Amino acid sequence: MDATIETIVLLKGAVVGAWFLVWFALERFRPAAREWVQSPSQSSSVGAAATSEDDKRMGRFNRWFRNGALFAINTLLSPAIVIPISTVMAAYGPDWRPDWVGQAYGGWAGLALDILLLDLFIYVWHRANHVLPFLWRFHQVHHFDRHLDTTSAVRFHFGEVVLSAVTRGLYVGLLDIPLTSVLVFEAVVLLCSIFHHSNARLPAGVERALSMVIITPGIHWVHHHAVRKDTDSNYGTLFSFWDRVFGSRSKTARWAEMPIGLEGETVDKSLVGLLLAPIQRPR
Ligand SMILES: [Zn+2]
Repeated sequence: MDATIETIVLLKGAVVGAWFLVWFALERFRPAAREWVQSPSQSSSVGAAATSEDDKRMGRFNRWFRNGALFAINTLLSPAIVIPISTVMAAYGPDWRPDWVGQAYGGWAGLALDILLLDLFIYVWHRANHVLPFLWRFHQVHHFDRHLDTTSAVRFHFGEVVLSAVTRGLYVGLLDIPLTSVLVFEAVVLLCSIFHHSNARLPAGVERALSMVIITPGIHWVHHHAVRKDTDSNYGTLFSFWDRVFGSRSKTARWAEMPIGLEGETVDKSLVGLLLAPIQRPR
């Protein structure tokens, strides 16, 4: 790994880690929505939110355990699969990017162009995950979560992570996007994802202003609303204009008690259930 890449990777870990801690603390002190917790007795039956403090604590830690375990699997897989795919595609893809792109859009402008192109890619990829049944088998794992907070940002089935890495690797290779741009974009996506999944309450004016440009919790929580029409909308990750451009922006405004999850599902699955979800009947 060359020195620049190594520095970016280290910086990425430090910045994302610190950002996670900030929003994790904020959502505890200034939550926007009441936490939904699944008591142990609800694991196989329909029920309302748990009420006792012990049940709440247990439910919260169970949720964090599931999300954390999925993240740990992805973190272990990343050096083995995701990073090599990105590196190989960035290094050995067709070298067609004309010089004028490098000259006219070098430095920060070039990086901004690459981020725009990559954000368009993950908008289309995310939408495909909802539209194509095979991809939905994996992506539904992210949507089974019955509450959202910073830990939801890293809750993905490893199958989705691998499929996403392969597809994005092809896109990066075809468009000849440099590895430095890909790594910076990955960090930006994580920062955005932690922010828009968080349960921190923002001042209404700040949220409104930010939502003109980027995806805010108010926009993304609607994507997790347990109503299929809303689940199949608001696909953006970084910029909020793709949903407006491609007509996928929901008119629903988030409210504090909005049910989160998937329509027709009343409980989250166990960790094993989540890992096996892609080979079971999709909803
Ligand atoms: Zn989704």
